[in-house]
Amino acid sequence: MLNRYPLLPRSDELWPNFRWRLVKHLYDQYRAMLEGSAALALVEVICAFRTGSSVFLGLFAAVVATTAGRYALTIWFRRNDGPTPPRQAGTPEVWAQRFVAGIIASSVLFGATTLVVCLQFHDPALQLLVFLVEAAWIAGSTQRNAASPLAVASQTAVISLTAIVSAMWSGSPIVLWVVPFVVAHALSARSGLAFFGDLHLNTLLTEQRLEAANAQLMELSATDGLTGISNRRAFDAEFQREVGRAARNADTIGLIMIDVDFFKAFNDRYGHTAGDACLREIAAIAEGTLHRPSDFVARFGGEEFAVMLPGTPLEGARDVAERIRRAVLHAARLHAGSPFGQVTISLGVASIVPKPGTKPQSLIDLADGALYQAKRGGRNQVCIAGAPQAVEGLRARQ
Ligand code: GH3
Ligand code: MG
Ligand code: MG
Repeated sequence: MLNRYPLLPRSDELWPNFRWRLVKHLYDQYRAMLEGSAALALVEVICAFRTGSSVFLGLFAAVVATTAGRYALTIWFRRNDGPTPPRQAGTPEVWAQRFVAGIIASSVLFGATTLVVCLQFHDPALQLLVFLVEAAWIAGSTQRNAASPLAVASQTAVISLTAIVSAMWSGSPIVLWVVPFVVAHALSARSGLAFFGDLHLNTLLTEQRLEAANAQLMELSATDGLTGISNRRAFDAEFQREVGRAARNADTIGLIMIDVDFFKAFNDRYGHTAGDACLREIAAIAEGTLHRPSDFVARFGGEEFAVMLPGTPLEGARDVAERIRRAVLHAARLHAGSPFGQVTISLGVASIVPKPGTKPQSLIDLADGALYQAKRGGRNQVCIAGAPQAVEGLRARQ
């Protein structure tokens, strides 16, 4: 039975947070659980009144205690049910087991009621009442608890088996008529479970695929297709966020603008494919030079890159820029069209403590001004905003 009716659907495709969703669905049905338990408790009370037997009062007390236990379990689950990854103690399977244990306890109480009503009392009205409420119980549970095939199967099995045994044992002709009715109901529960179970699982799988596709799209829309680093769009969003954060915390934020020197000549001489490869290399070098998790490099435009350095003052940003410049020199990519004989970059550095309302563009303009200065100063150098001279001048070419 465990193979045909697993605790939770055995889909390897389902991510852990989606397995939690299956379990959440079970516990989300707690109102229906309370209503079902109230119906069973009412049956016990009616039986107690009609027969005067205290057995039903005992069963009533057991139903109340079981329902309280199942409700407490629900509260426990819902209280700990946080955002993914979930914080519940245990695994989805453990929580599903607890749920199924609660369902079996309620079903056993129903089965016991059926047995007592059929074997001890020959009251057709009571017997029919019990069977009718049982049928409604099975029908409702098939849909509500389809997330756990085992929950539906164990409830249907306990209730229908005790119903059949009670009906046969009682020998009462009216009750015997009920047997085919119960069997038909159990069979319909089985096909209902297959239908609702598949529906449920497929809905989750579709949601999951949608989520994966969305994540992929988000990543693609933030990545530069040529170099694989962040694109301008991602940079603008991240830069805006970080400038705002720096303004709130009265913190510094540094920015380096990078431009490849004589790149048009490089393309003209070596072709665009080689130009593309060169851009990929420079992107990888810039990325590989950064160490802090908050540092962020992006392709800003054609052969320009931007490096954002949150919490970094001017000297620190200048050092990073100088490291990148040297790393590009070290890569020594041939560029016969450049006076340096190899590919070089120019870098402009700026760092500010933004005020609330400072526009991110103002920092870009500062770094861009420094870059322009580096170009004018002869290229292959780092200039800092506000400084009249290049930090590392042409003498640093090597
Ligand atoms: P400077 O030293 O002043 O920066 O000179 P430059 O030639 O690098 O400057 P310019 O802005 O005139 O040229 C930039 C060139 O970058 C133009 C274009 O051929 C090239 N470029 C821009 N985007 C790409 C790209 O995606 N791939 C390739 N291969 N080349 C690109
Ligand atoms: Mg340029
Ligand atoms: Mg250039």
